[in-house]
Amino acid sequence: MSQPALMNTYGRLPVTFTRGEGVRLFDTEGKRYLDCISGVGVNALGHAHPAVTEAIQTQAGQLLHTSNLYSVQKQQQLAEALCAVSGMDNVFFSNSGAEANEAAIKLARMHGHNRNIEIPHVIVMEQAFHGRTLATLTASGNRKIQVGFEPLVRGFIRAPYGDIAALETIAHNNDSVAAVLIEPIQGEGGIRTLPPEYLAQLRALCDKHDWLLMLDEVQSGNGRTGKYFAYQHSGILPDVVVTAKGLGNGVPIGACLAHGKAASLFHPGNHGSTFGGNPLVCAAGLAVVSTLTSNNMIEQIAESGRYLIAGLKKQLESAAHVKEVRGQGLMVGIELTTPCAPLVTQALAKGLLINVTSERVVRLLPPLIINQQEIDELLSILCPLILAWADQGSAA
Ligand SMILES: *Cc1c(COP(=O)(O)O)cnc(C)c1O
Repeated sequence: MSQPALMNTYGRLPVTFTRGEGVRLFDTEGKRYLDCISGVGVNALGHAHPAVTEAIQTQAGQLLHTSNLYSVQKQQQLAEALCAVSGMDNVFFSNSGAEANEAAIKLARMHGHNRNIEIPHVIVMEQAFHGRTLATLTASGNRKIQVGFEPLVRGFIRAPYGDIAALETIAHNNDSVAAVLIEPIQGEGGIRTLPPEYLAQLRALCDKHDWLLMLDEVQSGNGRTGKYFAYQHSGILPDVVVTAKGLGNGVPIGACLAHGKAASLFHPGNHGSTFGGNPLVCAAGLAVVSTLTSNNMIEQIAESGRYLIAGLKKQLESAAHVKEVRGQGLMVGIELTTPCAPLVTQALAKGLLINVTSERVVRLLPPLIINQQEIDELLSILCPLILAWADQGSAA
């Protein structure tokens, strides 16, 4: 018997796509799907967006890569665009979300050592997801992704999500904290949101104790929540912001943005990446940022999000097995009272791509370009499936 050529790391659905256009994907049989997961929040502008295609094609004909031995014009421009839209001071580019978090964790440790903390710690949250490298899987609050990979990395303290008093207790008992790393909305953790005043309280706590406030916006960034970054809903400025997913619309790019004291921690030799921020991915990133920041697109995303969440609430909230509809912008979760993974296959059969995370949360991350008519189509397929889950869910 022949061995599969790919390592056995994913449980894949039995479908292969050959082409995409806007919110649509087409499989090898020519069947059409409404994509409401966007490659896990990556295809923010949808598939084959003309501005991104054009940027990639032009750049590919000029220069793909030179390395960071030299100055890279497109990287410089993308950094300036990201600083302008975020209020941050500077940027380090990586190739993924996990790697961008690694840069943030290294900044935290550097900050801790500058404060003469011998073993600096980063506070991380229950149910957090920060990636699959050794440090980021340690930072993640999910035992399943850690098991088998011990020894884990030192230097993390776990706290409950959304609980400021718990962080005050840690501050009281521990003088080795250098930073807090938190998602403004947890994605893999089940689209869990923070109390509205939380980030402002956290900002004050971090200032009081000289901790870096580091936000993982790998999933929530780049317009997803109806602001360019989710922290912009709360009027604070973090010390570090990490992003990736939607930034390249499909090309692999991550970014770690820093502000104030965090922006001057790294010096030549402290960190690096061979591919990071190469001309190709930065050309795509520039097309994404400039598209998102023109024609009121972010306001439209906020509006689409309100429409989607209102539609879901109207149709689902009275169902006994629907615990909560929540989210912000086009980052939306529907929590059921029972595990509901089979809904993914049921939706697939009906030409709708969704995801279930944290076992019982239906997660929607549609392309940010989705229009009202397409949201109506999403609602008309998804809501009956979820309502019918009442019987199957209790039987399961
Ligand atoms: C997806 C994700 C990551 C990991 O990104 P990769 O590109 O898969 O390494 C980290 N943090 C959050 C919040 C994510 O959603």
